Amino acid sequence: MRQNRWNDKEAQARVEAAGTNPADRTLALRVYSSRIIGADPDLVMHGGGNTSVKTEREDLFGVLQPVLHVKGSGWDLDTLEAAGLPGVRLDALLEMRQLDALSDEDMVNMQRSNLLDSSAPNPSVETLLHAFLPHTFVDHTHATAFLALANLPEPEAAIREIFGDRLAVVPYIMPGFALAKKAAEVFDAHPDCEGIILLKHGHFTFGATAKESYDKVIAHTNLVEDWLAAKNAGRRFAGTVKRNRTASAPEAAAILPVLRGAIGRLRGDHHRAAPLPVVMDMRGGEVIDAFLGRPDLQDLARRGVASPDHVIRTKGRMLVLGKDDLAQGRAGIEARVEEYAEAYRAMFKAQFDRVGGGKVMLEPHPCVAWIEGLGIVGIGKDASAASAAADIAEQTVEVMTLGEAAGGFRPIGPDDLFDMEYWSLEQAKLSKAAAKPFAGQVVAVTGGAGAIGLATAKAFAREGAAVALIDFNPEACKAAAASIGPNCLAVVADLTASGAADKAVGEIVARFGGLDVLVSNAGAAVQGMLLDLDEATLRASFELNFFSHLAMAKAAAKVFSAQDHGGQMLFNVSKQAVNPGKGFGAYGLPKAATFFLVRQLALELGGSGIRVNGVNADRIRSGLLTDDFIQSRAEARGVSASDYMAGNLLKREVEATHVADAFLALARSERTTAHVITVDGGNIEAALR
Ligand SMILES: [Zn+2]
Repeated sequence: MRQNRWNDKEAQARVEAAGTNPADRTLALRVYSSRIIGADPDLVMHGGGNTSVKTEREDLFGVLQPVLHVKGSGWDLDTLEAAGLPGVRLDALLEMRQLDALSDEDMVNMQRSNLLDSSAPNPSVETLLHAFLPHTFVDHTHATAFLALANLPEPEAAIREIFGDRLAVVPYIMPGFALAKKAAEVFDAHPDCEGIILLKHGHFTFGATAKESYDKVIAHTNLVEDWLAAKNAGRRFAGTVKRNRTASAPEAAAILPVLRGAIGRLRGDHHRAAPLPVVMDMRGGEVIDAFLGRPDLQDLARRGVASPDHVIRTKGRMLVLGKDDLAQGRAGIEARVEEYAEAYRAMFKAQFDRVGGGKVMLEPHPCVAWIEGLGIVGIGKDASAASAAADIAEQTVEVMTLGEAAGGFRPIGPDDLFDMEYWSLEQAKLSKAAAKPFAGQVVAVTGGAGAIGLATAKAFAREGAAVALIDFNPEACKAAAASIGPNCLAVVADLTASGAADKAVGEIVARFGGLDVLVSNAGAAVQGMLLDLDEATLRASFELNFFSHLAMAKAAAKVFSAQDHGGQMLFNVSKQAVNPGKGFGAYGLPKAATFFLVRQLALELGGSGIRVNGVNADRIRSGLLTDDFIQSRAEARGVSASDYMAGNLLKREVEATHVADAFLALARSERTTAHVITVDGGNIEAALR
């Protein structure tokens, strides 16, 4: 059941906060009811839905003019603000209805040139449909239940059974001018209807007030959910809510990196040392497991998408990896991916000929994989694209399950799918943002909650990478990950424990599908004159400052090998490795071993395209170098704390961000391996030869 989230007090609070201008107050109400629609992913998912309101605003001459505020591109309903509902001159939109045809490009241009604010975002491609309906408030959703209903083999009969003639039915037409005109025609023939269903697409409601239209969104959707439950032996769907499956790490670790490598080679450079621009997002749970056990899985995978715009995120066909494929290991997985790509290329060629050319093929890899016994996996160029594909894939599982039990899932066919996937407006949306240098790469940082670790993780995240932080302190690790963003993974692990490195890397693989860059940074300094130290202390320091680096290197190398596509290891060494400080032997000795590890691994892994480099940093404010410690060192040398920190050739304090920059520079240096960069402001005694 969809919950009716309307709350008079909250609605009124938004209206009051909007000031005294009546149009602003109406718009505030529009923002409010849009957000409560957006709060339920089973009503709208990833831009699948939009809202509008008609009002009047004074022009520069003080004359009231009718205006349509409609959702702008780049905004989601759940976080909508007034700026996300650009105002468009309504008279100009209504005039368009006289035309027989209007190209998408002319439509977008006309909408833009009638914006009240020339810098506002593009109004939705469904703007004209909103404009042509006479009601003040109009709500459009792609509710899960409606998608099941709209894709039935005989939807009209079911719609009549549920709604009588309260819903008008619009046949499938791709979004744009023709659909808007057809919907308006259907509405004019049924002026008393409570809403419209767009076959194989979604649902519209409307009303004189925000509440009237919103109440209908919920009431109509619940009527459809009740009807579907009756057809599903009373089973109601639980809702589509990011059921991340990271628990099944061991199975995922054997499958996802191989799949990621195969897909990455279809996306990017075939050279094994080039990065793999692919991130994955795996979902699981009871409903998904039951779905993946269906005997008709192969057939469903070719059926199509639940709503036309899904094809942009998920492509029209899913990759299926059955138990038999998985039993063959790498060969089985790679063969299925290659088959998928071949079928996609053939589809493109046939469609290219049908539409008379003028289209450029997208990457031929799947964006959703159904993996028997494991889960469903969203695949994308970065973490947010993978997550969007996974969200839609989860919703599609519900739509297919409910629809098949209620008569069948019969979405738009291959021609309509192609027209949508290769729609010029959608293509423009995709290519708008230039990819960031590390987009699609997965980076793991150990000691991720510390000063250098977090600064390094942030630097990679800023450059587009999907980042995982590993740290032994649970609270600090989660807080650090949250400070990077919702797509940053926190992995709590004490890397000195046996098996911990493999488990941590397994969690990262289950979350993102693989790994490209390991930043092995965790460490801690132990003090004391070497011959006075007890052996246990020295051995403990070796566990953390050397063996944990080696364990992470081994765990990462296994993933790199499964991906068969290079990879990188970056180690935080220390100036202690080459320039010992009195009383720091227990720190310097394992660091010297880690310094050697860089060179040893570079030698042994170079042939697999894996680069291994390190950073020697010194005197960074961090867990190793606390303010108290700095104070005591400064006093011992008879200088101020700031002079102590700037005690280098450049006379400038070295900060964690400078170390992060060095890690990033090494990660970018495609022909550099076995190298250690010094980041210490200049220290001749610690200079490397
Ligand atoms: Zn729509």
